[in-house]
Amino acid sequence: MHKAETLHNTLCRIDGRGYKAYKELKGSYAFPDFTLYIDHVQGDPFAAPSRIRVRVERKKAGWPENLAVRKEHRIAVGDFLARECGQAIKRIAKGKRGSGASGQISLDQPGQEVLERTSVIVEPAWIEARLTIGLPAAGRQVLGREAAEIFFRELPAIVKESIFFSSLDQQKLTGHWQTYEEAEFIREKLPAMGLVSFIANGSVLPRRSGVDEWPIRREEAVSFLSPPELEVAIDLPYSGRMTGMGIPQGITLIVGGGYHGKSTLLRAIERGIYNHIPGDGREYVVTIGSAVKIRAEDGRAVTKVDISAFINNLPHLPGRPAPDTSGFTTVNASGSTSQAANICEALEIGAELLLLDEDTSATNFMIRDERMQELVAKEKEPITPYLERIVQLKEAGISTILALGGSGAYFDLADTVIMMDSYHCRAVTEEAKRICRVHPIRGHKVAASGSFSPKSRIPLPQGLDPSIREKVKIKTRGINEIGFGLAEIDLSAVEQIVDEAQVRFIGETMYFLAKNLVDGRRSLREILLSWEELLESGGLDQVARTLRGDFARPRRFEVAAALNRLRTLKIRP
Ligand code: ADP
Ligand code: MG
Repeated sequence: MHKAETLHNTLCRIDGRGYKAYKELKGSYAFPDFTLYIDHVQGDPFAAPSRIRVRVERKKAGWPENLAVRKEHRIAVGDFLARECGQAIKRIAKGKRGSGASGQISLDQPGQEVLERTSVIVEPAWIEARLTIGLPAAGRQVLGREAAEIFFRELPAIVKESIFFSSLDQQKLTGHWQTYEEAEFIREKLPAMGLVSFIANGSVLPRRSGVDEWPIRREEAVSFLSPPELEVAIDLPYSGRMTGMGIPQGITLIVGGGYHGKSTLLRAIERGIYNHIPGDGREYVVTIGSAVKIRAEDGRAVTKVDISAFINNLPHLPGRPAPDTSGFTTVNASGSTSQAANICEALEIGAELLLLDEDTSATNFMIRDERMQELVAKEKEPITPYLERIVQLKEAGISTILALGGSGAYFDLADTVIMMDSYHCRAVTEEAKRICRVHPIRGHKVAASGSFSPKSRIPLPQGLDPSIREKVKIKTRGINEIGFGLAEIDLSAVEQIVDEAQVRFIGETMYFLAKNLVDGRRSLREILLSWEELLESGGLDQVARTLRGDFARPRRFEVAAALNRLRTLKIRP
């Protein structure tokens, strides 16, 4: 560890020299308030900015010993500090000065969800913020004095104003971790209450637009109110008794006319696997963590997935073998086969709640009406629709929430029917059952023959190579794409990924799994469970090649989704 002075001296000495002289800065420095780690120095002013970490002893920063000790609190407080740090950077940093990204300081910013992330890490003894800095240059010459200003004036001020306890808005901070804790509390309570999701009265579900996760203004939204039949109350640690709609385990339909708010409710439920920041409107919309959104995704690749519960006897060219749907492989799935694969893959790693929306489902996967059965003979139809499996799934402990307005075929099977009526929620289970008696469906098949059990698959290491000419290349583009070596993984249909930082970490995880856990013996499920255990015990850094501040934690379902979409994936025969 160097003295801070040493850094100052170096910066003065290399002032005006070629940019590569910055490489000398790598190392750690003792500042009065913190330790500065310069982990990576960029090669030129236009390259990805340099990575630094600032570690503050909690005692020194005035943090009470009993605050933010439990892991859930540390995650919530880390999220809070990341946002504060982002604000402080905006106030304090002068920003661009020189060529490229010269002078720019940044810290990866969270969205509406509070995720475990690496931008600010809170440990019982210290707090660490991970930033990037564009080391300043004029052309390609070191601007040592400007750099000194960043390290010796701006950085200490940012740390003081965003990490020191006394400079924080205490009420806001407390609200942040209490909200997080209460959402976790509800999620833990759900199974014992026989519920899969809870939507608190007063929640604001709609978002500002299809591309903006901010809530719409309260006065423009109909806030959520549970129908009396489905209302439950939960006693929370800080907010007291909270009432809202409890969606029971089993089969639930969300019905209603077009544009009445069905998909908006389903989307809120689907995002309820995450905890949200106060003010989001969905802070108390909480869903069990093993809920997976399922949709059709034609064009995706599928590798050796047993979809035989849904798809059988696919057509094939004369003289060619029939495709084996108990180990179905394709480079170009259809709507129905992709939706079947999405379900089977989710069940393989432990999904307990499937969320489906008619807007993004393949109709022929969902239903097959009488007339169509008449015209297209059973032997000519490879699809066993979801309708015929949904009860078996329920009996195996897998619930479904299905948003649909176009077919009443599911009424007979539903345990709960919710209607969205001009954004108001009503319970209409009894009405739906009455309609079933008045208009029975002839020849209605409730359970298809054959059993239903997701098969586990064993991935092989040779399909998981992220290198291009011996160099590891993992790149993410926004929230929808990972470049893994030469392969491109399209995640645009994986709807429960919410942050690019998660995508980065998925890429990193895939590399880690390939190197450490994929051995041709362990199943995908075992691999992902071991990975989760590692994260639980040692945090995200355990899995990463370098210490970075721009990772956030995805669930195992999203990691599996990326692996399953990797076109080079190989599964043991
Ligand atoms: P559906 O799936 O029933 O066709 P959507 O859920 O897509 O309907 O909602 C249609 C529109 O209504 C969307 O623009 C959505 O933002 C808006 N909306 C949904 N719920 C509410 C609400 N509670 N208050 C105000 N607007 C809403
Ligand atoms: Mg809809």
